[in-house]
Amino acid sequence: MDVSGGWERTARGAMLLGDDGGLKPTIFAEMSALAAQTGAINLGQGFPDEDGPFEVLEAARHAISDGFNQYPPGLGMPVLRRAIADHQERFYGLKADPDREVLVTAGATEALAATILALVDDGDEVVTLEPFYDSYGAIIALARGIHRTVGLRAPNFQPDHDELRSVVTDRTRLILINNPHNPTGSVLSRETLELVVELAHEHDAIIVTDEVYEHLTFGVEHIPVATLSGAWDRTVTISSGGKTFNTTGWKVGWLTAPNALLQTILAVKQFLTYVNAAPFQPAIAVGLGLPDEYFQRIASELEQKKDLLSAGVRGAGFEVSRPQGSYFVIADAGPLGFADAAALCRQLPELAGVVAVPVSAFVADEHKGEYASLLRFAFCKRVEVLERASAQLARLDR
Ligand code: PMP
Ligand code: GLN
Repeated sequence: MDVSGGWERTARGAMLLGDDGGLKPTIFAEMSALAAQTGAINLGQGFPDEDGPFEVLEAARHAISDGFNQYPPGLGMPVLRRAIADHQERFYGLKADPDREVLVTAGATEALAATILALVDDGDEVVTLEPFYDSYGAIIALARGIHRTVGLRAPNFQPDHDELRSVVTDRTRLILINNPHNPTGSVLSRETLELVVELAHEHDAIIVTDEVYEHLTFGVEHIPVATLSGAWDRTVTISSGGKTFNTTGWKVGWLTAPNALLQTILAVKQFLTYVNAAPFQPAIAVGLGLPDEYFQRIASELEQKKDLLSAGVRGAGFEVSRPQGSYFVIADAGPLGFADAAALCRQLPELAGVVAVPVSAFVADEHKGEYASLLRFAFCKRVEVLERASAQLARLDR
């Protein structure tokens, strides 16, 4: 019997499995395993190496002791939904009804999956920026959608407006943006966001926006697309507690959307996980209620780390981008004589005791060439670790 069920021969299987028809680990899993195996400093997978706020951790410990250990309600615990709605209003002036327009999910990953699976039908087109976060391509394939992309190119990694206009058509079901952007660190301008809203109206598309790095911008304003005129009624806004509170392993995410859209997404979400993370939900609610200074401090501390690692990577001979947000800086290995960043990433532990990820992992096969010499380094690590990584990377420039 063919135990794989022949899945590797389907379009979705071909996209999600490896060349041998077996499991293809994500680039993050692959590179974290390489770091573990070699003892190299892991600047590949984006996760912080320090705990987040004590109050948030303590609230989770109390929630476990206090018996919040069974299934929470399908929409998420009221205390968290209220905190999400209050957060949207405090930072952006957005009013979401916590009982009808807020849904708690198993990380932003589940919010994305449920949204795409719920809204995309066979052959519907989904437009994303490219490079794109790896799960976008996978879930669009599972939904049997057609993935169209708008390229982000060095040095600024901003979308070209004419290209965006030409890619969005009446076949477009979703315009899925990621702002601030992983992996390039770019933050979309108000003009670009206005164009997204205009095109969504013109072609009757829904906007899905992944804003997990919303609090991690460096001297530029984060503008949620849902705040623009005419956007809210057709926008699903996705975020997560992972990046804001250094709790990537808790997988507490959420989305806000008009009720009719949310109901459609919930119809799928309830059969993916149903619910998750009971004791962590009230803890993330505590985090969302922290004073403004907390949110300012995490951005400014991360900005210093960005500057520190960028200088180190530049000093090692790479050409380096200027991220406006996120955890990541893009480095071009071309000036060091490496044309293939994917190959370099496999050698980097040996050459410099550091792990990074190749940007080509975030790019469709037909466009990999354009991004071949680019690597992504994560700077969400302790200063001491970034200093050590910088010193080790300097070994490359000989
Ligand atoms: N979207 C982007 C752009 C991300 O970088 C990540 C992960 N870091 C996610 C979604 C997934 O978030 P979560 O861990 O909350 O599922
Ligand atoms: N979002 C993280 C990154 O871009 C990785 C999360 C994951 O491993 N799925 O590095």
